[in-house]
Amino acid sequence: MRKLETKTIVVASHNAGKIREIQDLIGPFGFTAKSAAELNFVEPDETGTTFEENATIKALASAEAAGLPALSDDSGLVIDALGGDPGVYTANWAEKPDGTRDFAMAMEKVEAALDKIGASKPEQRTARFVSVLCLAWPDGHTELFRGEVEGVVVWPPRGSRGFGYDPVFQPEGFDTTFGEMSAEQKHGWKPGESAALSHRARAFKIFVETCLEG
Ligand code: IMP
Repeated sequence: MRKLETKTIVVASHNAGKIREIQDLIGPFGFTAKSAAELNFVEPDETGTTFEENATIKALASAEAAGLPALSDDSGLVIDALGGDPGVYTANWAEKPDGTRDFAMAMEKVEAALDKIGASKPEQRTARFVSVLCLAWPDGHTELFRGEVEGVVVWPPRGSRGFGYDPVFQPEGFDTTFGEMSAEQKHGWKPGESAALSHRARAFKIFVETCLEG
């Protein structure tokens, strides 16, 4: 495992919600980080079929463009009753014909798919959020970190915090959705703590333990 020696990195993302969360998570470690969006980097095509492949594509593209280490996130909602959909295509389910994204529409699509197969009880609506973070260096070296959080898909959506599908995801052991939680509650983790809640914070904790500490 390669350690991250520099404190200047690129957050390899164009997704405002993810950028905010990753900036939040790296903040306490004293990083100076610009996002691929701020740097006007072209968004690479996510041609992979796994979170790992797509995270690697994004991190390498930014690391090469910036000449700096880059941290990407590829994530999605994996719903058991839908055979793992939307999975790596979670962002695509929100895409409109004009290329913009509409997550209210995407959540409705998910609900319609669950409704179609009669999945109305919580035990029929189990799901997990997955986040794979990739740290890439300009020389092409990469490290991957995966975090998952189990929960259920609820309907109707609840809460206007967070982003994406947060209002329909209720993590196991909680009676609030990610959309109803503050960013701190959703991360459920601070440096030095042993537990994390969100998929992204769980993956980030492994990144810290692997590449920053020790
Ligand atoms: P991608 O990683 O760019 O392919 O996009 C993943 C998609 O999954 C995002 O556009 C979000 O809609 C969704 N997603 C990933 N993480 C979260 C989260 O923490 N909350 C809500 N939605 C998420």
